[in-house]
Amino acid sequence: MTKILEGKTLSQKMLENLSSKTSLLKEKLTLVIVQVGERSESEFYISKKLKFGEKVGVEVRHLKFPESISRDELGNVLKGLNADSKITGIIIQLPLPTGLNISKLIELIDWTKDIDGLHSRNFKSLASGEEKIIPATVKGIIKLLEYHQVPVAGKKAVIISRSLLVGKPLALALLNRDATVSICHSKTLSLKEEVATADIVVSAVGKPGLLPSEFFKPHQVIIDVGFSLQGEKLAEEFEGRKISGDLDFEAVKNKVSAITPVPGGVGPLTVACLFENLFESHNLQRFHKSA
Ligand code: NAP
Repeated sequence: MTKILEGKTLSQKMLENLSSKTSLLKEKLTLVIVQVGERSESEFYISKKLKFGEKVGVEVRHLKFPESISRDELGNVLKGLNADSKITGIIIQLPLPTGLNISKLIELIDWTKDIDGLHSRNFKSLASGEEKIIPATVKGIIKLLEYHQVPVAGKKAVIISRSLLVGKPLALALLNRDATVSICHSKTLSLKEEVATADIVVSAVGKPGLLPSEFFKPHQVIIDVGFSLQGEKLAEEFEGRKISGDLDFEAVKNKVSAITPVPGGVGPLTVACLFENLFESHNLQRFHKSA
């Protein structure tokens, strides 16, 4: 029988754990989300972060800027947030509009406040196997696999994404856990042939229907990170819109050994892991101040 790798139960446990940690703190932690432009998926993710922060007892500030903001103006915003000792963590909501280079902007964030784990210092720690703050989606996928007791060591993982946020850091995290890893992207010649070699398939593309059910084999574990909102936007709400992953869950679920639902798989854990990273940041800052 297919195992459904749901993420809501673990996310709820993490929320309870983080809430009790918050109640023991003298100061209130503050997360700042920097958004440039408008994008339905980004609005959805931010709404989830605002709600989760409220439940945990963390202040979440949402700073929204027009697409016309220059790199220098955004840089000054980030420098101001670095200097403010009341701010524990900063994230730049991705994707950014074309013209703004995320790698360069991330380097302007104090690495101890980089709770997305994308600063070169955090990325280097991940690459060297000494993980400190790692991207929340990657941490969420690792936790999901551990929670559902899916073995990783010695397994062949095929990741469809080479993005800075998901594909590349996930490849490093799985290598750190002794998987054999292949990365696919938009120029990969035959996704079908690559997917056929996998024990674990992770797809993080954002194209519903990318992976038809014929691609999959009975022993495989499927992690669908893709997230697309379809249909008309209703005011500021997301109800009434269909949320799709990169594959058709209903068509694939009885063909494989384990699979994540969308929604309710990786998504809830990404949000919970982001707030876990905020606590890591808080600890790092305390350590660096007292060192
Ligand atoms: P991104 O930066 O645009 O990366 C997408 C990746 O998919 C790129 O590496 C791209 O290849 C690859 N790709 C595009 N078309 C492809 C194709 N036809 N065949 C194979 N690969 C293809 O996006 P992202 O920020 O990483 O996000 C990806 C998806 O994951 C989105 O749906 C996003 O909403 C979702 N997401 C979900 C969560 C969650 O918690 N559930 C968290 C983060 C992201 P190239 O490099 O060649 O362009």
